Amino acid sequence: SQYSRLRQRAIAASIADGLANAVPPLLVGLAVSTVANPSRSLLARVGFKTVAGRLGALGVISAGYWVGASLLEYYRERTASELADKVRRDLRVRLYDHVQRLDVATVEQQGTGRWMAVLDGDLEEVHRFVRHGGKPLMTIGSNVVVVGGTFLTVSPLLGLIQLFVIPPVLIASQRMLKPLRARVIASRDVGEQLSGMISGNLAGIGTLASFGAEDDQAERVRLAADEQLDVSREANRVEAAYVPTLRAIIGGGFVTTVTLGAAKVMNGTMSVAGLDTMAYGQLRLMSALARGGTGVEEFQRTSAALERIYSTLDLQSSLESGTQSLPSHTRAGTIEFRDVSFGYDPREPVLDGIDLRIEAGSMVGIVGASGAGKSTLLKLLMRFYDPQNGSVTIDGLDVRELQLDHLRQALSVVPQEITLFSGTIRDNIALGRPGASFNDIRAAAEAARAHDFIAALPDGYETRLGFGGLTLSGGQRQRIAIARALVAERPYLLFDEATSSLDHVTEAAIQRSLEQLRVDRTLLIVAHRLSTVRHADVIYVMEEGRIVEQGSHDELIAQSGVYASMWRIQTGEAGAAGAA
Ligand code: ADP
Repeated sequence: SQYSRLRQRAIAASIADGLANAVPPLLVGLAVSTVANPSRSLLARVGFKTVAGRLGALGVISAGYWVGASLLEYYRERTASELADKVRRDLRVRLYDHVQRLDVATVEQQGTGRWMAVLDGDLEEVHRFVRHGGKPLMTIGSNVVVVGGTFLTVSPLLGLIQLFVIPPVLIASQRMLKPLRARVIASRDVGEQLSGMISGNLAGIGTLASFGAEDDQAERVRLAADEQLDVSREANRVEAAYVPTLRAIIGGGFVTTVTLGAAKVMNGTMSVAGLDTMAYGQLRLMSALARGGTGVEEFQRTSAALERIYSTLDLQSSLESGTQSLPSHTRAGTIEFRDVSFGYDPREPVLDGIDLRIEAGSMVGIVGASGAGKSTLLKLLMRFYDPQNGSVTIDGLDVRELQLDHLRQALSVVPQEITLFSGTIRDNIALGRPGASFNDIRAAAEAARAHDFIAALPDGYETRLGFGGLTLSGGQRQRIAIARALVAERPYLLFDEATSSLDHVTEAAIQRSLEQLRVDRTLLIVAHRLSTVRHADVIYVMEEGRIVEQGSHDELIAQSGVYASMWRIQTGEAGAAGAA
């Protein structure tokens, strides 16, 4: 493919560029030998008989080298950048797609920060390494090759002595890289916690300000930043020692080169140029190592990033999709919960033996104190989680047997926490049906009583939301979310406190539109406010994970139970009833 060709070109360019970087000692050797030993120098032997000819050749060769090396560097930069960009793009697309298809529970419970660290931080790490990281390592490698080659040709004996530095270099690396890696990872984790804390605080800045909690929070951030300081200090300590240690060991080799080499030059068994090339080559290797020191930390960070990227790609959804499909995507069937028990933590049940039946085309209300388990019911129906006991069925089919996308495409939800995505209002409403016509979108917005305020905006339906766009009020967001649910034209509409931020007049108007839309649709409405579900065919009353009452509004009032007393409190009749 084009991609693997690009990768080959980038690697070839890196190697060539690295080798070119190791050439200058050879040029110096050539120059010294031309001067020190005119008649037996390499240039003389290949046919440059005059001094002018040899100097000219030296000039042309050097100029050619610098031009060539610059072009190579340019080419390497370009291919490496392009490769880095493509790797980042491909990994990002793959990761996003994968994470998005994991089960909702896993993604939600880990928190956005954890995923962003992988999808953003780790990817940037890999990008940086592909772009720049190869260079120091290549330079070190090619300098080793050139220095080694020079030793072999000039003085194999001196070369052999140099080999003694290799075991200490390897041992020192081994002993230092392991703790460095652990500290690099610790420093990354602390940094991510800190940035998670800061982004959470900024998102809730209003709350912090209104409670005057700024000082406390600033202190928390300071403590976390201090911890980061400590952890990076540890990592820096190991990293800072790494390069000097290697340099000291190789410096020992350098000492043998200059002392033994000088002795050999004196007794005439080695040329000045040879000594010069070896010594200069070794110096360049040491400075390449010094620059490579930062490469070592980057390499550790990149390998930690890649590890997390691949373990993310290895994550499997804990919910297995079934194979069945619903008999109809347009007509609603009956929903049933049979003896359903569930807890997010299986030891702490949130739902306890729920039996509930929602007839096709009916409107059912679920009410109860907050924390009673109402939203959890909806999550089981959408199959974000599976119950530990009992079953949830649609049209007689267990949701676990249904194809997941089939199930989700049958349900339209207005959740408690509404998310508007960056894009226009129109895109946001059309989320569940991207091909929806403008008329459909407008009709849904009218039914949701959102049309008037949208039309009053300067850009109307094309107004941009999110990232640098308009911010909407809670009630406006709810109405857009309702329009979104309606336009998706799905047989089951689930409302989870969907009208809680609206005034009674708007809520009543939306209820009238819902009445008209109710042909062939099942409506499940979770509400806190009882007037929202007053006209439902059946109302279930929940308390601590159980259904304690059920019936129509009038039946429940007549029972004088939980519902009736909640109704009296909410309508302000409690005092009057008490007095009666
Ligand atoms: P309701 O909708 O009636 O207010 P919920 O169904 O949201 O109640 O919550 C029922 C219980 O489950 C609560 O005690 C809540 O703390 C707990 N709960 C809700 N969501 C989660 C979750 N994602 N992880 C753990 N516990 C949860």
